[in-house]
Amino acid sequence: MAPSPVTGPRSDPLAQIPPPSERRLALRVNAAAQRALRQGHPWLYAEAITDLRGEGRPGDLAVIFDDHRRFLAIGLYDPGSPIRVRVLHHGSPTTIDRVWLRDRLLEADARRAAIAGTETTGYRLVHGENDALPGLVIDRYDTTLVIKLYTAAWLPWLPDLRSALKAALPGTGQASLVLRFSRDVKRRPEALHGLTDGMWLAGAPVEEVIFMENGLRFAVDVVHGQKTGFFLDQRDNRARVERLAAGKRTLNVFAYSGGFSLYAARGGAPEVTSLDASAPALAAAKRNFDLNRHIPAVAAARHTLLEADAFDALSDLHRLKRSYDLVIVDPPSLAAQQGQVEGALQAYSRLTSLALGVLAPGGTVVLCSCSARVSAAEFIATVSEAASRVGRPLHEIERTGHGTDHPVGFPEGAYLKALFATA
Ligand code: SAH
Repeated sequence: MAPSPVTGPRSDPLAQIPPPSERRLALRVNAAAQRALRQGHPWLYAEAITDLRGEGRPGDLAVIFDDHRRFLAIGLYDPGSPIRVRVLHHGSPTTIDRVWLRDRLLEADARRAAIAGTETTGYRLVHGENDALPGLVIDRYDTTLVIKLYTAAWLPWLPDLRSALKAALPGTGQASLVLRFSRDVKRRPEALHGLTDGMWLAGAPVEEVIFMENGLRFAVDVVHGQKTGFFLDQRDNRARVERLAAGKRTLNVFAYSGGFSLYAARGGAPEVTSLDASAPALAAAKRNFDLNRHIPAVAAARHTLLEADAFDALSDLHRLKRSYDLVIVDPPSLAAQQGQVEGALQAYSRLTSLALGVLAPGGTVVLCSCSARVSAAEFIATVSEAASRVGRPLHEIERTGHGTDHPVGFPEGAYLKALFATA
């Protein structure tokens, strides 16, 4: 019999990453960028750079000076991104190291203090720019942390970040750690030191992680799921839906893994339909209902899955004269680039009239937008106009944004808008 291969302890995937460079890049920038940086803006675009000493690699520290060679800011350089520097610190020189990272993590953790004690073990621990850690998201799902990078500049800093996490958050030493990359980062394998999207940096790989949100249990696929696996930003809006749902036949459009659907069921909706174009999303929605059958209202609700394009399905349901008392519409971001804003507004307008086409008279709609480039005012004006045009003017209940674990630290941070209304 052949001897079985000898397997040693699993090697540390971060061991192959060279430490951050000791060099500092010195940058000068145009007047508009100087103004923005003085006001604390966290991004420096490539075209604003007027002078650069040295050739930068992803993750090098870049020091930005004004016209009088005075320090403006220090940040992470990324030669492969139009956002060339993501600013870590403004105003006066400081040392960026493990201790600095630990202090930012402690501050981020303190901002989430209110979540403790709400039967919630899944929330955003670090919200990028808004927590002074631009391009970095860390989501917690029970004892698993998902680190999502929106710039390759974080790669050389990962070992320090891991140590800082352990120092800042007791218990993190035992936590599982999963690494996820944004689409832009995935496109640059040469900058990734052999690390891959969805790899486990610590802990045994599992297919699903179960966490609690306001006492509801959710399973999340942290390796393949959209974003880091769950749309944590809608937690407070889901809780609002629960409070509105008693007795209401509910349609959840763009349902993903059924977050809004479950809250509606627990709130007393007798029938809930989850509509999404993605079969894996709907399978997850079904799984999440099964995980909560011990809650009588969830067990009592009739949950229907509808796999279809939202625009087509809403037209079909209207033709079939189906009607609902509560309709939730939470589409994906419809304007990834500035040039797509007009198209996004048209889509919001169309979705509003389609949603009203299946809404019972006097029913409730929840209309959401997560497109950062569409302002709350534009969004609300667009959906209100669409509603009036089809003879169902909206009566606003409230307008809201994201939860406290998604603080807004700069204008682009306020991306989620939701309008609760009757019509
Ligand atoms: N409301 C969800 C998040 C929605 S994310 C929550 O609270 O968790 C957006 C969802 O829209 C994704 O699940 C995606 O599969 C779905 N989607 C995207 N385009 C679609 C389309 N044209 N029709 C139906 N679903 C679509």
